[in-house]
Amino acid sequence: MQLTNRKIVVSNKEQSFAERIYLPAIFKGMMITASHLFKKSPTINYPEQKRPIANVYRGQHVLKRDENGAERCTSCGMCAVACPAEAITMTSGERKKGEEHLYREEKYAATYEIDMLRCIFCGLCEEACPKEAIFLTDRIVDAGFERKEFVFGKDKLVEKIDQRIDVTKRQTPEVLAFKKIPGLKHNELYDAKKLNKGHKH
Ligand code: SF4
Ligand code: SF4
Repeated sequence: MQLTNRKIVVSNKEQSFAERIYLPAIFKGMMITASHLFKKSPTINYPEQKRPIANVYRGQHVLKRDENGAERCTSCGMCAVACPAEAITMTSGERKKGEEHLYREEKYAATYEIDMLRCIFCGLCEEACPKEAIFLTDRIVDAGFERKEFVFGKDKLVEKIDQRIDVTKRQTPEVLAFKKIPGLKHNELYDAKKLNKGHKH
């Protein structure tokens, strides 16, 4: 049965003398090599030199905090389910009284790990997250010598309270506008008086 109309005519033409001694082919190859000597080198001296990368480059992940510094992740597992590389694992914890300033939701990620050797930086975890808790960033994952160094836990993933990472360039104007709509549960921030009447910090 003929599947396509494509045909290739195979030539069994005898090789000429020049083709049999290979010299013209070798000379042609050397000319191509020589021509590259006068071209600008495409290689750079990384890590001293770095190429500019896009704002939406998919590099090392960050687990975001909200405006008050509480962790946004609610350990729902959507990112882990979406991950085609099965790189994400987590365990959940239940927020205790007085921890509202630490965790935004009643349930939080007690542990959260991404195996960077499995990750293919596809960004599906970022797309799946309903809490805008996980984003990829323009940071490149550091090199290492041991496999275990590449299992990143919360210590490496959660953004530092005094070194916040701006991810607004990764979000559409619609999402950014949605985050500012007052009255939505999604946008509610920790309010000590409302959530924990009488609790003193
Ligand atoms: S970027 Fe892709 S592969 Fe990496 S953790 Fe997220 S979903 Fe998994
Ligand atoms: S990062 Fe987002 S999707 Fe993943 S567990 Fe946390 S809240 Fe859910």
